[in-house]
Amino acid sequence: MSLALNSLLIHGGVDGDKTTGAVNVPIYQTSTYKQSELGVNTGWEYSRTGNPTRAALEALIADLEGGEYGLAFASGLAAIHTVLSLFTAGDKIIISDNIYGGTFRILDKVFKPLGLAYEITDTTDTAKIAAAIDSNTKAIYIETPANPLLSVTDIQATAELARKAGVLLIVDNTFLTPYLQRPLTLGADIVIHSGTKYLGGHSDTISGLVALKDKAIAERLFFLQNAIGGVLSPFDSFLVIRGIKTLGVRMDRHVENAQRIAEWLETSGYVKKVYFPGLASDPGYAVQKKQADGPGAMISFVLNEEFDYRAFFRNLKLITLAESLGGVESLVCHPASMTHASIPADIRHKTGIVDELIRFSVGIEDVNDLIDDLQQAIEAARIVNDKMGGGV
Ligand SMILES: *Cc1c(COP(=O)(O)O)cnc(C)c1O
Repeated sequence: MSLALNSLLIHGGVDGDKTTGAVNVPIYQTSTYKQSELGVNTGWEYSRTGNPTRAALEALIADLEGGEYGLAFASGLAAIHTVLSLFTAGDKIIISDNIYGGTFRILDKVFKPLGLAYEITDTTDTAKIAAAIDSNTKAIYIETPANPLLSVTDIQATAELARKAGVLLIVDNTFLTPYLQRPLTLGADIVIHSGTKYLGGHSDTISGLVALKDKAIAERLFFLQNAIGGVLSPFDSFLVIRGIKTLGVRMDRHVENAQRIAEWLETSGYVKKVYFPGLASDPGYAVQKKQADGPGAMISFVLNEEFDYRAFFRNLKLITLAESLGGVESLVCHPASMTHASIPADIRHKTGIVDELIRFSVGIEDVNDLIDDLQQAIEAARIVNDKMGGGV
């Protein structure tokens, strides 16, 4: 029986435990497995290579993304490390000009010294990607919407370009999750997630996931996963499976709250700029609407000059200043000094990641409480102009 996504979230992958009837996949907290005689095992040998709890999550992410194979890692960056290990010295990868800071860092500081080149391009413009492809190019690596400016890249158009050029399209789908966007079904080759974010959903675990269709690439990735060893633990695998069960209801609320808040910000008179692909005024609106079932719940904005963004962060009462995103609780961060500090300032500023940029991961609290908190923190951040009187 083929199931709709909302059912797959709960019954996809491995549904419960056949041995006991437990409705949840047990946490197989074991490092190794008994062999009855030399060369004879149950299919499980050693938990870096394979673990039933992790395997259940791996099957689940493959189901949700419309893939054939899934892999789970100890972090999003461990997943990215393993995928980038498909390439060798002399290869080139094209990346979006706004991308998760850690992805840029591993390319620039870990893989570049080993000979793997990267080229930064505005991937919202397919012609610019095409122009960047040369004979060494092996992959195009995008996030959409991208972190932190929420720019939208056309997955289908980029996938067509990649196929014609014989290069892989890798999509970091962390911001939308398979509930809202399924890049493999749009032609992408590999999907990457930080499961730390919406999939886990409760800011209580670090994890990474990969999903894909191609058997040969999957076999190489399983080899690399075991060879490099950054695997997800059985307990964390359980937590991510548990988180995914409520992904649908959480994302519905996340998106509903984010839409309300983005519209409020846009008309509030408080902001110079709002980045949110769910606003009709956003340059990514049409493409986002075509390729995803919703704009997600990440909003970035810049306050008007009469407000001090440092004071805004300081005055928030309900919304928490913290790294990360995608949890049930609302979090704000300052990309320039936090998530994107590893990107050199000149590259950051050129792409619009200005020092005043505020990134907001909209949680599932009551939306009116969130708007009240934003408003009081913005008002408290108003810069007092002494010349106008009233100053001390
Ligand atoms: C957080 C994040 C990552 C890295 O994941 P970790 O789990 O923190 O290692 C990668 N991509 C995006 C878009 C992220 O938000």
